[in-house]
Amino acid sequence: MNKKLVITIDGPAGAGKSTVSRILAEKLGYIYLDTGALYRGLAYKAVQLGMPLDDISRLCDLCSNTTVSLNNSNGKMKVSVDGEDVEDKIRTEEIGMAASKISTFAVVREKLLNLQREAGADGGIVAEGRDMGSVVFPDADYKFYLDATLDERINRRHKELQSKGNSQEMESISKVMLARDQQDKGRVLAPLKPPEGAIIINSDYLSIDEVVDHIISDISKKTPK
Ligand code: C5P
Repeated sequence: MNKKLVITIDGPAGAGKSTVSRILAEKLGYIYLDTGALYRGLAYKAVQLGMPLDDISRLCDLCSNTTVSLNNSNGKMKVSVDGEDVEDKIRTEEIGMAASKISTFAVVREKLLNLQREAGADGGIVAEGRDMGSVVFPDADYKFYLDATLDERINRRHKELQSKGNSQEMESISKVMLARDQQDKGRVLAPLKPPEGAIIINSDYLSIDEVVDHIISDISKKTPK
């Protein structure tokens, strides 16, 4: 395959998007863009400032006064906020929820839009998020929507947290995941839904490798745009 493609993977939290996208990008020799990290980066700063996350005028100030940038680090685009590498600080449920809250606002989405498009301008990218195929890259060569049932996603998150020595009650994981699902799917701007033309994959009974193989086989069957 000579053409450097734009491949988008959207879906809810816990569906396996990040791992699948990272492995897929590695296999194809493409860049991996985790767009959730951009929203998390901005949310991290908002939380540090202790500002209300629904105050539109404070959010406008935050967006004007914050430099969010992406740097290619071995094929993965890493997020910096005001020059600080925030990767290790943004992977908490608190920041995930804060990201979900601020991402409902147009000023936040607009601030991050060009950065994402620039990263994909030359193709050769696997871009993962909530609105990759619908808003950011509507002309992507291949669009996928990776889904899994809520129970399965809760189980996976529970195991993931346990493996990091952070055992959280299923009930609290469930509450947070459901709230984030509702917020991401119910918002007016760029709501989470399968983009038009996307191939939907339910990963409940599939391993990560099986999902990656599924995607690679779909890509090789279909002619890119
Ligand atoms: O994917 P991740 O869990 O890191 O995303 C954190 C939050 O950022 C999501 O719950 C969603 O509200 C927001 N987000 C978004 N659009 C994207 C990626 C993430 O609104 N493209």
